Amino acid sequence: MSKVHQSIRRKLLAWYDKTKRDLPWRDTKNPYNIWVSEIMLQQTQVKTVLPYYLRWIKTFPTVEKLAGASERKVLKLWEGLGYYSRARNIRKAAQIIVKDVNGKVPDTEAGLMALPGIGRYTAGAIASIAFGLKAPVLDGNVKRVLSRLFCLNENGATSASENRLWQKTADLLPTRRPGDFNQALMELGATVCTPKSPTCLQCPVRTSCEVFRQGTLELFPPAKKKAPAKKIEVSAAIILRNRKIYIQQRAKGGLMGGLWEFPGGKREKMESMEDCLRREIKEELGASITILDKVMTIKHTYTQFRVTLHVFNCRLNGQRLRPNGCEQWKWVSPAQLATYPFPAANVKIVKYLTDEISKTRD
Ligand code: SF4
Repeated sequence: MSKVHQSIRRKLLAWYDKTKRDLPWRDTKNPYNIWVSEIMLQQTQVKTVLPYYLRWIKTFPTVEKLAGASERKVLKLWEGLGYYSRARNIRKAAQIIVKDVNGKVPDTEAGLMALPGIGRYTAGAIASIAFGLKAPVLDGNVKRVLSRLFCLNENGATSASENRLWQKTADLLPTRRPGDFNQALMELGATVCTPKSPTCLQCPVRTSCEVFRQGTLELFPPAKKKAPAKKIEVSAAIILRNRKIYIQQRAKGGLMGGLWEFPGGKREKMESMEDCLRREIKEELGASITILDKVMTIKHTYTQFRVTLHVFNCRLNGQRLRPNGCEQWKWVSPAQLATYPFPAANVKIVKYLTDEISKTRD
């Protein structure tokens, strides 16, 4: 066993014991709670996750409660957290656990990885933290720390590079306290060895760190090529009839699948926003509309694109609707709207409707 590895383990664990953040999922070894926190923390910062985690555990304190919940309730609780397949998968996995394995979260990496939404990272985190197994983890923080600690010219951008980093994190993992060590490594990346300005002078493992020794910090990890976020312009219609508003559920297999939305869509080249909306409503609802006025413009950034959403009050010409391409559609009152899960940009329309329009329009 390498002396460098031993020294890193000892110092990192001592530092973790002294400085670790007090987080609600660290008070427990309950595999369900740890699983929920790990799924929420994928691509999402701790401060964003905290209120969602607390609400979730209060609403669904056990695997059984989650398995018995409706998809709508689960997605509503996840609303705003993004990557909604995580919410659909954790519910599906809970149903499998209750039906096939007596309600017990599997206690091996292989058993965990057989469930929907649990990959190698999440399986390693649950297995090591909840069950004390020597199972490595590799997330963005760990990749960065490893690249810097050992001067590895790796960023995980290819599967070969990812495999080499998995091997490195497995080599470094101790048999004793693997769950704490994994958390310490991730904590170091989140709080000290940060992407832009690591605080090396406060780092517990700086004397073992190759880039610190060589003064080559800016070279590690090697930069990944990143495509700039695409800009898209989208129109959306608020259609009222008998004091009810038309909403539709997005197809379950697609982006933000299972969430509800106001009808509309992406502007095509040379099209005005109004023409775009009339065309989209014709295509989606098989109906024509009269556009009354513009309500608001909403800007929202998702991971791969930046959306500008133009929202209009509209009236249906005629009564017949032939919606297609959605899972289902409904006319709901402004008060009922708040019980449906919507993508983040649409939540602002819901707020507008519940605050303002319900009292004033027909
Ligand atoms: Fe990261 Fe600096 Fe610590 Fe090296 S010394 S692990 S670069 S914070």
